[in-house]
This record gives sequence, structure tokens and C-alpha cells, in this order.
Amino acid sequence: MACECLRRVDEQLQKRNCKVATAFEITPDMEMLLVILVGSEKIDKGKRGRPPQIQATYCPFCGKKWFGDSSAEGAESAEGAACSNA
Ligand SMILES: [Zn+2]
Repeated sequence: MACECLRRVDEQLQKRNCKVATAFEITPDMEMLLVILVGSEKIDKGKRGRPPQIQATYCPFCGKKWFGDSSAEGAESAEGAACSNA
């Protein structure tokens, strides 16, 4: 992990029963990396299909290169549940 932003933001969101949307990515070396997801939504909500998940290459909070996080702490974020206030 390049920075502590994800942990800090998750601590703030936890007060609202939310967390930053994340997912696991398997590298060619079979290593699991925690990645930060960026939300997307349909422009025409009448069309079928789910909007794609977009992975942040850089930390969306501080701008540092995000290399993923292979620590066990991220395991609980595997489902990538997003907080929706819409
Ligand atoms: Zn950061």
C-alpha cells in the first residue's frame, strides 16, 4: 500500500456503516491485490447491463501510485460493497 488514505477514509465511513468500494485482483504471479474501485453509473438508466467497475491506478485521495494491498487486513473488503447515498 502506497499510503494510509484507504484505512483513514474507511474509519470515517465506518461511522455511517459504509466503506470504500474495493475488490481483489489476481496478478500473473497469483498474488491477490486489493484495488480501489471508482463508481460508475449508467447514462441511460433504461438500458440493460451493469455499469463497469473501474479500478483506480492512483490513490483517489492523495494521488500516490496505488500498487494494491496484499495484506490480510483487506480480506474483509473483498465484496467491494459501495456506499450509495443517492
Ligand atoms: Zn492516498
